[in-house]
Amino acid sequence: YKWTQWMFVQLFRKGLAYQKTGWVNWCPEDKTVLANEQVIDGKCERCETVVEKKKLKQWYFKITDYADRLIDGLDSLPDWPENVKTMQREWIGRSTGAEIDFTIKETGEKLPIFTTRPDTIFGVTFMAIAPESPIIDRLNLEGEFKEKVEAYRKKVLLRTEIERTSADTEKDGVFTGKYAVNPFNGEEIQLWVADYVLAGYGTGAVMAVPAHDSRDFLFARKYDIPIKIVIHPDKNTALDLSRMDDAFTEYGVMVNSGQFNGLFGKDAIEKTTEFAAENGFGRKKVNYKLHDWLISRQRYWGAPIPIIHCPQCGQVAVPETDLPVLLPDVKSYIPKGRSPLADLPEFINVKCPECGGKAERDPDTMDTFVCSSWYYLRYLDPKNDSEPFSKEKVKGWMPIDKYIGGISHATGHLIYFRFFQKFLKDIGWVEDEEPARVLFNHGMVYDARGEVMSKSKGNVVSPTGLMETRGIDISRLGMFFTAPGEKEVLWSDDVITGVEKFVIKKLFRIIDRFADTESIDLK
Ligand SMILES: [Zn+2]
Ligand SMILES: [Zn+2]
Repeated sequence: YKWTQWMFVQLFRKGLAYQKTGWVNWCPEDKTVLANEQVIDGKCERCETVVEKKKLKQWYFKITDYADRLIDGLDSLPDWPENVKTMQREWIGRSTGAEIDFTIKETGEKLPIFTTRPDTIFGVTFMAIAPESPIIDRLNLEGEFKEKVEAYRKKVLLRTEIERTSADTEKDGVFTGKYAVNPFNGEEIQLWVADYVLAGYGTGAVMAVPAHDSRDFLFARKYDIPIKIVIHPDKNTALDLSRMDDAFTEYGVMVNSGQFNGLFGKDAIEKTTEFAAENGFGRKKVNYKLHDWLISRQRYWGAPIPIIHCPQCGQVAVPETDLPVLLPDVKSYIPKGRSPLADLPEFINVKCPECGGKAERDPDTMDTFVCSSWYYLRYLDPKNDSEPFSKEKVKGWMPIDKYIGGISHATGHLIYFRFFQKFLKDIGWVEDEEPARVLFNHGMVYDARGEVMSKSKGNVVSPTGLMETRGIDISRLGMFFTAPGEKEVLWSDDVITGVEKFVIKKLFRIIDRFADTESIDLK
């Protein structure tokens, strides 16, 4: 892992590895943080415990700087399966729209809001803020409102992201007693805290247009918040609020919108955005769902993060000549909520490489997915001890002709290794923009109970064991017979038994019959 640490140092030097305090996914069972990509349906990918949110200082890779290249690069990969490309596009979640600056009435604080539908701006009747958002702390809430909001925030933090955003669960929220001002018409709108807004998306607050957004519509009906129609389907069809049981979410003609009345669809979006820009309270903006990649872990097994914290110099990268930072021996690997390395003074206490003063090593280790983000390059030059790999060798072999992996990595490893490839290209170590020309998704193998076989679950049937008991020919033939490579397989011993009967009772008998013959005319 010396060279994984070297990779970290390169990213750190370019400002692409950084530490920040934020809400992170925390597995209470494994006692470590998880990347968003490691949370499946609100549960820990390893142990299936419901994931909690915790506020912690962690290391991130700034993968969001590469969001456009990660999306646009997919168009240059005709031999990647469509479903994987779609999953990556949705995971990165690029949307174009406008950022509009609302103002909090009481404090004057500017509240920039991202929206893909600035043409509905005159229909905003409330604003919904994520319960985690620091915006709430700055509202100076008092008395009854403060109590209610704080109690609500605590309650929501126990809910999973899925519960909060799924279309099937009822959304709730609480009024803060404060108002924001819509810069387009000066109207005062209610500020709510609502569970369906996630802190990581945009600024952690959304403008709510109940007449033209289904979630906002349900929320407004539930709490008796005004609903104002500002889009009609076309010039001859008007909406009637008393007959609506859902929002009208399509494009249409702007109404009740002052000077913008009569504008339609894309044109309406452009004109309203331009107006906001000209008047200094808005701008065109691209937004992404992709977050930066959380890579620090509070467990023993992983490459130690090669950073020294110095009270004088701040964060200092371990000099490349001092790499690797070796994992020290520990008595107990059991995670206790912080890295086991944090309890080893002989590991933690070091001299600052810059000023020579007293300093401390970072106690965290890196997610294993950091190592796997560039292993394919090391495989081309595994014994090199003077550099991560030889540029010449890599130039000769790369890109990968055919990369084989499971669909479960679609929005994890298969994004991470593309990110590393692009970064290494930017710093002059590789030449190709994409690591793999062809991607082949093999089918997953399920055990007899219908569970995916995986190393982390320990339910894998070992091919070696099978070959020892059944023989190599029968094992191989059995695997070929179960399914084509891209299909999923429900593995059971019956398949092998069937193949075994065929081989022993039919094939071997035929062979036996001709065993003594001198030569056979196979035609
Ligand atoms: Zn877990
Ligand atoms: Zn120092």
